[in-house]
Amino acid sequence: MSHNGIAAQCGARRGRSSGFARPQDQIFSRAEIRLFRQTASQARFSAMAEAYKLFIFQIVSGIKRAGRIDGLTKEDAVLISVLREFSVRFGLTAIVRDVPPVSTVFISKRPKDAKELLRLHGVLIRRSGSALGPRKYQQHRRYGELLGYPPCCVEHFASTPGCRSIWDYFVYMFGAHGDRPGIFSIEPRLNLMASIPLVFHLPCSLECEASLEAANLVLGLYFLYDEEITLRVLSLLRAPVIVFRNNFFVRMTGHLSGDILAYACPDVLDCDAAEGKRKGKGGGYIRETLEAIRRGDRLAFLDNGFRVLKGDTTLRVHLFGAWPYVVLVPSRRDPASAQRRRSRHQRDVRKNQCRPRSHL
Ligand SMILES: [Zn+2]
Repeated sequence: MSHNGIAAQCGARRGRSSGFARPQDQIFSRAEIRLFRQTASQARFSAMAEAYKLFIFQIVSGIKRAGRIDGLTKEDAVLISVLREFSVRFGLTAIVRDVPPVSTVFISKRPKDAKELLRLHGVLIRRSGSALGPRKYQQHRRYGELLGYPPCCVEHFASTPGCRSIWDYFVYMFGAHGDRPGIFSIEPRLNLMASIPLVFHLPCSLECEASLEAANLVLGLYFLYDEEITLRVLSLLRAPVIVFRNNFFVRMTGHLSGDILAYACPDVLDCDAAEGKRKGKGGGYIRETLEAIRRGDRLAFLDNGFRVLKGDTTLRVHLFGAWPYVVLVPSRRDPASAQRRRSRHQRDVRKNQCRPRSHL
């Protein structure tokens, strides 16, 4: 699963209804929820992580009209087959698209929506950084509509030149293209980097009301599904994440106190390697940092990077100039910091036309 979406007109909606349309066929009785939970807990579906089950539950419930799970490799053959079987149990259509070395699964209640999503994905995945023509513009809008993304975010994405990675998105959002690192506070419900995110699109702004509304809807659904799991999801959403250039992520388990982030068992992800794109192509510096983080227990943030510590020993000094990163700390933002962020955002819009590209 990855993320997607985009656009800036959200500010104009402030104080009014977000315009996020709830699906009309959102029908799920208590009995249906119980059936879903019972089926999900069967041993034959143990190959599926909770994140996949919850994602499919969004589609079964009607909150999402269609969905996409991507980045699956040959090692995920069992998972793909279980995903298909699980989907069929709930009357969903699941189409697998193989483009070695990865496979993508498109899922929807309506076979024609799954087919259309597959077709549009094939067309839009090759999007360049240039402005969209009218036809591609419409295709993007339709793609976002099928995936249940808020119209403002889809509009933002479709109407602006695209970038190729989640890194571009954060650079755009936080203005992290300078020469110094930054630690940024984000709204937990819009933490796309969590292991079980609530939303899968790139919100058009850090305060996008439609995205928050969509996240709240999902959270409400999850509470109906399983309260204990929902509390775990909430805790995962609050975990700090370090996003490095070129799709390296580290989800931390601890919390930031001053300049020190103490942690245990970090979840280190190398999405490019998972997709087999960057094998043998550089990345030595970042890989050494990731390895040190795996072995360490604290990060100490500096003006120009961070140190990885284990007890009294420094395992590694990572310099921002050698490999840039952003640190995302999910927490409630006070209005003053939101205002500062908006000002920076507006400044960056003027300076930097590079906009995020959806990749789910
Ligand atoms: Zn939006």
